Amino acid sequence: MPGLPDPSGRPDGQPKRGTMIRISDILERVAEANSDADLDIIDRAYVYSARVHAGQLRLSGEPYLLHPLEVAFVLAQMNLDPVSVAAGLLHDVVEDTHATPDEIEAMFGSEVRHIVDGVTKMSKVTVSDSRTRQAESIRKMLLAMADDLRVILIKLADRLHNMRTLQYHKPPKRLEIATETLDIYAPIAARLGIYWMKHELEDIAFQHTEPEAYDTIKQLVARSRVEREEYVQKVMDIIRERTTDAGLQGRVLGRYKKYYSIHNKMKAQNLAFEDVYDIIGFRIILDTIPHCYEALGVIHALWKPIDIKFKDYIARPKSNMYQSLHTTVIGPGGMRIEIQIRTEEMDEVAKSGVAAHWSYKEGKSANPKVSQQFAWIQNLIENQENIRDPREFMENVRIDLFPDEVYVFTPNGDIRSLARGATPVDFAYLIHTEVGHHLAGAKINGRLVPLQTELETGDVVEIVTSPKGHPSKDWLGFVKTVKARAKIRQWIKTQEKERSLSLGREMCEKAFRKYRMSFNTVLKTPEMEKVVDEFGFKTTEDLIASIGYGKITPLQVVRRFLPKPEDLAKSDEASLIKKLIGSVRKRKTKTKTGVTVKGLDDILVRFGKCCQPVPGDPIVGYITRGSGVTIHRSDCVNALKLNADRYIDVEWSQEVAETYPVKIRVSAVDRVGLLVDVVSNISKNGANIISAWTETKDDHTVDGLFTIGVADTQHLNRILNDIRKVKRVQGVRRVK
Ligand code: MN
Repeated sequence: MPGLPDPSGRPDGQPKRGTMIRISDILERVAEANSDADLDIIDRAYVYSARVHAGQLRLSGEPYLLHPLEVAFVLAQMNLDPVSVAAGLLHDVVEDTHATPDEIEAMFGSEVRHIVDGVTKMSKVTVSDSRTRQAESIRKMLLAMADDLRVILIKLADRLHNMRTLQYHKPPKRLEIATETLDIYAPIAARLGIYWMKHELEDIAFQHTEPEAYDTIKQLVARSRVEREEYVQKVMDIIRERTTDAGLQGRVLGRYKKYYSIHNKMKAQNLAFEDVYDIIGFRIILDTIPHCYEALGVIHALWKPIDIKFKDYIARPKSNMYQSLHTTVIGPGGMRIEIQIRTEEMDEVAKSGVAAHWSYKEGKSANPKVSQQFAWIQNLIENQENIRDPREFMENVRIDLFPDEVYVFTPNGDIRSLARGATPVDFAYLIHTEVGHHLAGAKINGRLVPLQTELETGDVVEIVTSPKGHPSKDWLGFVKTVKARAKIRQWIKTQEKERSLSLGREMCEKAFRKYRMSFNTVLKTPEMEKVVDEFGFKTTEDLIASIGYGKITPLQVVRRFLPKPEDLAKSDEASLIKKLIGSVRKRKTKTKTGVTVKGLDDILVRFGKCCQPVPGDPIVGYITRGSGVTIHRSDCVNALKLNADRYIDVEWSQEVAETYPVKIRVSAVDRVGLLVDVVSNISKNGANIISAWTETKDDHTVDGLFTIGVADTQHLNRILNDIRKVKRVQGVRRVK
């Protein structure tokens, strides 16, 4: 990237390719990092290495010594201690020369021997099956990590230089080494927080595993380079100006995403190159943490952030101790740009990753926090030692090389991997759907914890289930895994559907009853199938459920079963009846009204207010517009005026459950106690008085109107006769 500083995180002072590293470069670099460093051990290691490797050549034709020098230089750049750098110079002597471990120990001490031993052991992987070999390599890596992290750091530096000179191998060998680098070394570098190395390893490997894709992306990036460079410059200028205005002092860097990252993004999201916007990343490096947050404020005030892309790794460092603020914003011209903000110290850490926090006394960290972070390696090894199947081993271990995952143990000691941020609820669903559905509580390392507690690698998780336990909508607020989310949603949906079904059914029954129809009977009719179809549902259940959900009202459904006015006007009686009830079973049935409508069941029947028919009266039915059948006395004047086409035959049922209101007129000559006597004669016949109105005229005659509830005409006549017998009553009659 000409014209731009390289903020990839790679340490400064990288000599140009083709320039031979000299021991003085290494010594200078180590002294720079630590003025008290013991340079003598490095010097001696160099002399020894040069002697034993003498005469050996690399595939490139260069002296072999160049390789340990390069490796040692990488280690020096990562600010590692003199022992690591010395061990780097010696890392191949036991394997490739006549040197022995005892000799190393005698000359450089047990610490150097230990590390060189570790590196040597790791190189000796002789398994035929590539999958087994991969598992074996990782197992060795992990063992070495738990033993002394420096073994891994040297191995990584070794691999980095081998990758940088990969072109000297024959193509099949290149592919093999490149694949292994992608599978094992790059993830480990990332896991340890050495991102610059991860990116470099990936990009070189990519060039060899997928040369065509690599070339394509390289060309695409090159083609848009000038344009993009102007853009990068512009954005950097804006950031510098705004942060300076805010009184913040720091460095601003701009860089391109690595080809392999672009490739992965295109592949994972199925994007065209033009659609991968955040190809350019920026880094702001400041002096203090508060200034980092201030700068973040400045950036967010300037450009709209994409919320989900914001990560605060300062407040919550990655497990490899990486710290930084990450945000993606919509920059000038609508381009998505990624911005990382961190302190100089954090930037240093990003160069050597977790090693920056490592104290090399006995290869263990003096920092308890760091030791704790790496306790998982120990756990992993202890729990993996008995696993013989490399596939199983890989499956469990692979996960751990990716920092976005955590892995935890079941009470039986089985390992389960989950997305970082996963909770006991995610864990429960991972074990089994039913465990999730009946989750009642969770214990982490033996202690009860809130369900939203985030799991950490190494936790022993125990799920407490109860037959009464069931998922909660709240869980959707914190679960991380796709499986848990999907299962909880599904459960809630099923529950809601069941609830809606029973509610919908209840609502329908009520509504149909109101119109004197039986919902259960209507349900079985072909008419119903048609209605379900008209509403756009597949099943009757769906229709009922959607009433329960409140999407449609029961009345909307009831209306489909009521006669339409135009049908009523046109049709003859038989077809009207059919319309009314569909194919409800055709038999005479009593209704609660005490009126049977011929051939009809469950039809809404009302009584004409004009003539108030009571059982025993000759009656006719009249089909009204949209509200069932109205019953009139056959001599009712109002009924006679109605359209004869709409009459239907009705008759009184034998059993009558209720009483019918009827109006009677009583004429009498006034006397004391007259009204009491009339009322008592009504009451003694078991009839209710619904309303009463009396008027005494000037001529002492009394006019009384009573509405009384009677069972039938006989009942009515009995009452009328009794009232006639009351003293001074002159006439009693039913009002027509
Ligand atoms: Mn080597």
